[in-house]
Amino acid sequence: MGPPGAGKGTQAAVLARDLGLAHLATGDILRNETAAGSPVGLKAKTFMEAGRLVPDDVMTQLVGEYVVKAAKANGFVLDGYPRTLPQADALQALLEGASIVLTAVVNLEVPEEVIVARLANRQTCPKDQRTYHPVNNPPGKPGVCDACGSALVTRNDDSEAVVRNRLRVYRESTAPLVEFYKKQGLLKSVDGLAAIPKIVLAIKGILDEAQTAGPDSGRGTGRGETP
Ligand SMILES: [Zn+2]
Repeated sequence: MGPPGAGKGTQAAVLARDLGLAHLATGDILRNETAAGSPVGLKAKTFMEAGRLVPDDVMTQLVGEYVVKAAKANGFVLDGYPRTLPQADALQALLEGASIVLTAVVNLEVPEEVIVARLANRQTCPKDQRTYHPVNNPPGKPGVCDACGSALVTRNDDSEAVVRNRLRVYRESTAPLVEFYKKQGLLKSVDGLAAIPKIVLAIKGILDEAQTAGPDSGRGTGRGETP
């Protein structure tokens, strides 16, 4: 978890690569499923084409199949889901039904003013949507995507007013989620202002510790999570 621009996608990609996990990003799943024309993908498409948010139940259906499949393999890192309390409830039901246990919920904490500054300067690859930042996460060659060599662009919706509105929506919809996962002792906060490799190390430490503690220890019992 983390506000837009906190670096969720960057961290999720590194963790997935280093730990051999499936990186389940909602944006990618939506693109895959609508392109493949699967029933649930087509359902999601009707909402997106109408300019509406994809409803929670459709999102859960979309993500759920990937979660179950990845859990049977080597595990997964969810990126961009759940985003609302109803989605978290639905995910919980799905996980319980499939006997899948979450190891941790990592919350990347970044002050809003920092997010505004980051996003205002963010550069995106128009081809594969990878994001870069000239200071925090620069591409190897300035202005060029590392993965595909396309020229990077600064998106119009990275304007300050739009960013502030996205942050407000994020705050309102995810504040209950933070409480939800705190109560289960799953929420682990990480300083999102640290350098990317330091954040990666911190998250790996959290995952190691949570795994050592065992899948069932403390779940739902409010076991001494530090405030
Ligand atoms: Zn690219």
